[in-house]
Amino acid sequence: MTEFDTLLDRVRACSACADALPLGPRPLFQLSPTATILVASQAPGAKAHASGIPFSDQSGERLREWMGLSEAQFYDPARIAILPMALCYPGRASGGGDAPPRPECMPLWRDRLLEQLPALRLTLLVGTYALNHALGPGAMTDRVRDFRRYLPRYFPLPHPSWRSRIWVGRNPWFEADVLPALRSAITEALDSAGTRPRP
Ligand code: SF4
Repeated sequence: MTEFDTLLDRVRACSACADALPLGPRPLFQLSPTATILVASQAPGAKAHASGIPFSDQSGERLREWMGLSEAQFYDPARIAILPMALCYPGRASGGGDAPPRPECMPLWRDRLLEQLPALRLTLLVGTYALNHALGPGAMTDRVRDFRRYLPRYFPLPHPSWRSRIWVGRNPWFEADVLPALRSAITEALDSAGTRPRP
């Protein structure tokens, strides 16, 4: 067994914050050393937890549509990595929506898993947690509008939950300007597979 496989087995067996997870641990991620695109997201939702497949819900459908990818393309680990801020479904927040990603997860696993992505070209920062982790505190809408500032390394995006439909309606520049650029950046990163990685 390789070090990579051993690490992934350890992550899959993790129960470090099991007491705080209403449905128990079920770490969800997709990873391969050849992936050139990383979807850095928040935490799996309840449907993804039930299926065992990240983004197997309406948020995933919306994200794939934004990215211009089919399910087969999105779930190809050789090309696309999916690594949320926390790997297990955190349950519901008291005020509605999902609870924040569990804070125990990132220090345990994130850097070690990111080290397994040497071919990475483009990281999609999906939602406020991923944006703030990578870029520090800031306003999501401003960052998405100013996406060109963060290229070629990062592409800021809202979380594709049902709430994003309202946000997209209020910000028509997202579909007119941001999504075409997102799809171009993705095509470029996918086409770069096998070439020299970004320094
Ligand atoms: S959320 Fe992360 S730290 Fe908690 S059990 Fe799942 S993998 Fe382990």
